[in-house]
Amino acid sequence: MSAAQALTGSIAASHVIKWLRAWYSTDMPDAIDLEILRQMLPSTPYGTGVREIKQPVQFNEDAFEGMLARDPNDHEVWGIAYNGRSRPERQRFTIAHELGHFILHRGQQQSFNCDKQSVHTGIDTLRDIEREADDFASNLLMPGDLLRSWISNQRIDFRVLGDIAKRFNVSLEALCIRYIKFTTDRAILVYWDNGYMKYEWRSGSARRTRARIRRNGEPVEPMPGTLAADASITQEWDGTEMSAAIWCPEEAQHMKLREFKHSYNTRDRVLTLLLLESAEPRSWDRSWQDEESFDSFDQFVSNGQLPDRR
Ligand SMILES: [Zn+2]
Repeated sequence: MSAAQALTGSIAASHVIKWLRAWYSTDMPDAIDLEILRQMLPSTPYGTGVREIKQPVQFNEDAFEGMLARDPNDHEVWGIAYNGRSRPERQRFTIAHELGHFILHRGQQQSFNCDKQSVHTGIDTLRDIEREADDFASNLLMPGDLLRSWISNQRIDFRVLGDIAKRFNVSLEALCIRYIKFTTDRAILVYWDNGYMKYEWRSGSARRTRARIRRNGEPVEPMPGTLAADASITQEWDGTEMSAAIWCPEEAQHMKLREFKHSYNTRDRVLTLLLLESAEPRSWDRSWQDEESFDSFDQFVSNGQLPDRR
């Protein structure tokens, strides 16, 4: 496999971070300045054959979240557009995602139209290039070394994660997805849309210990007894401790977890974070086999994240 074929979102992000840190030499801000990166990229090895990436332009059409396209009149120029109705931190993530397409995929396509799901969730039903661009954005905006130093020796809760999200200028959702892929603890993130599960992310150790939430049919709804199912509770940022078996039926009776809940303004969208007590891996269990295909993408991602490998 050639070096070009092996380039992934996380590897590209780690190189870009290195170049940015060299450019600043000292005092690089925690929130990466995408303007500087946009201007820098054409002069780096990732900008071969490109003279300019134009300043991103806003558009207010909900069909797209972001777009990258080559100038039809000048093939050495590329442009980015993003949804101006999104929150500022989502606009940043979208621009980073489009820069990811620029670095990783511009040899394959002349233009990229990305919807909300492609840009912000990284879920396993997406096309490979969307997941790679998400991975690039996530690793670029939330560098692993900073994240590690800020979460180590900390009791994690939504306040800690929310503060880190502010420092990086990313959404709580983006930070939580990054955290789940990063942490060595057992953690599960669920996003609910109108009462139904939209996606679920599990940390590597949650998968290895086969911690997974109870399925009550398709589409999945939160189980009774959880904060997620309790409409009278909209926010729980400090966490509520409960028996892990309420969420994960295969957990031992003595196992505990802490459940966190964040409801968005409209309240029909909810982010749930579950932090479970540690447990021994159960990878020799036969039913591990059944989970293999479902989890192959997650494993691919955690194995492929070079800067985070441990
Ligand atoms: Zn995309």
